[in-house]
Amino acid sequence: SVKSLTKIYDMGEIQVNALRGVDMELYEGEMVVLLGPSGSGKSTLLNILGGLDTATAGEVSYRGKDLTKATEQELTEYRRYHIGFVFQFYNLIPSLTALENVAVVTEISRNPMLPEDALSLVGLLDRKDHFPSQLSGGEQQRVAIARAISKNPEVLLCDEPTGALDFKTGILVLEALERVNRELGTATVIITHNADIASMADRIISLRNGLIADITINTIKKKPGELRW
Ligand code: ATP
Ligand code: MG
Repeated sequence: SVKSLTKIYDMGEIQVNALRGVDMELYEGEMVVLLGPSGSGKSTLLNILGGLDTATAGEVSYRGKDLTKATEQELTEYRRYHIGFVFQFYNLIPSLTALENVAVVTEISRNPMLPEDALSLVGLLDRKDHFPSQLSGGEQQRVAIARAISKNPEVLLCDEPTGALDFKTGILVLEALERVNRELGTATVIITHNADIASMADRIISLRNGLIADITINTIKKKPGELRW
């Protein structure tokens, strides 16, 4: 939950008001899409939700615990055990196989899945011994999703997960995210520029200029395969 969240990037000469009073809640198991023009504050909000960045003012809490007052160690635990991240570029370790990339995370987790099970959930068990250079872009992103969910996080935060992919490949990635959400019940936030992707979410939050411009509850969820974008 965030309340009256503001974020000012202070560059000395200039200050950027990236978030100017955002209130939002993320409920267990829901899928939320964050929409908005470039520079509207989507990544800033996601990074603060995930404990990668801190707010300038306002409240950020997780299951009632105030994260703005958390120690560095508590924040590390929050990021490590509760939050999974997926970025536009997959950030896999080139010298490790798909399975080993996932195992890097499961080895330091409290409640991990078997790395094989995580790969299987995204449909890539048969690619487990491939190195990243031997995988397509969409496959690499699905390995990144397997890695992010292998620690069984309550929340999965995705910053433009299909941003570097073509349409067909993007659908496969979205199908993997949808399956994770459905089968594991992982609350998922997806940043996208694509309004069609939003139609698979439970809720669509639109940011404009550092403020929430609109929240839509989506009663007719689409499956990724039904999307056209
Ligand atoms: P995009 O769709 O292009 O990714 P976004 O909605 O994710 O945009 P943010 O990255 O959150 O936008 O940026 C919001 C504003 O904050 C922008 O004006 C940006 O220039 C500024 N900003 C973002 N990160 C920093 C930073 N580390 N230092 C200074 N300013 C920043
Ligand atoms: Mg961004």
